[in-house]
Amino acid sequence: MPDPTRPEGPKIIAIANQKGGVGKTTTTINLAAALAETGVRVLIVDLDPQGNASTGLGLDVAARKFTVYDLLLDEAPLGDVIQPTAQDGLSIIPSTVDLSSADIELIANEKRSFLLHDALRQSAMDAYGFDYVLIDCPPSLNLLTVNAMVAAHSVLVPLQSEFFALEGLSQLMLTIREIRQTANPALRIEGVVLTMFDSRNNLSTQVEQDARDNLGELVFRTRIPRNVRVSEAPSYAMSVLSYDPLSKGAQAYRELAQELIENTARIAA
Ligand code: ADP
Ligand code: MG
Repeated sequence: MPDPTRPEGPKIIAIANQKGGVGKTTTTINLAAALAETGVRVLIVDLDPQGNASTGLGLDVAARKFTVYDLLLDEAPLGDVIQPTAQDGLSIIPSTVDLSSADIELIANEKRSFLLHDALRQSAMDAYGFDYVLIDCPPSLNLLTVNAMVAAHSVLVPLQSEFFALEGLSQLMLTIREIRQTANPALRIEGVVLTMFDSRNNLSTQVEQDARDNLGELVFRTRIPRNVRVSEAPSYAMSVLSYDPLSKGAQAYRELAQELIENTARIAA
């Protein structure tokens, strides 16, 4: 059922950082699970050909009959590509390795940057009543990531609390600016979240300081700690919230969800 209190449809957030291994997929799965736990309806769009979000939520490759690739090429409607997950209120549009050729195949398509935007248009989404859509981007600023940013209201950037964390952020910010100037003037930065944080490690605290000095309010208060339960959960095809609900990782993602919801309220006001 569409929610009459949300006439503008779901809030669409691209989870992006062109570096690999910084916690994009982990944040997509667990933030989505934490939001769903509050009672809202969440859709994950797996836009990475590696399909880690799909696998991490237990979708067998064999069961991925229709994927985000079919959706982008307009070969399958939303209803065929949205799959339920084991968690209430959490659905996913899966991907497979097929998607890796999309970058090249779509070059000649004049709407190439708008394919996801058009597929997720409000009239098509209305029937599903999602409150949030989280898009898990590939580790690159390629056409797929551009599609995510054109379709999204905002970009959430996971930043690994490691050496060179901030390197590459300026390139990402430049891309966001370009997309604002061309295809999506309303695109905002939702925030930067520190991932794999270890408060006993000087490097982590240094990265945090640098991030807060350079990015100020854009950095979420919540830090996601490095937590072995977080890294174990995908092999059990679960979010960390289901796998170990009281773990530090699960608690941190709940806090991040709360902060995000407050963010949303602030923007709406
Ligand atoms: P990306 O999608 O940006 O490539 P991932 O989310 O796949 O990054 O994370 C990279 C690796 O780090 C994965 O093996 C994941 O399990 C691990 N990881 C991510 N966040 C945490 C965390 N908070 N604690 C421990 N391991 C983590
Ligand atoms: Mg990933």
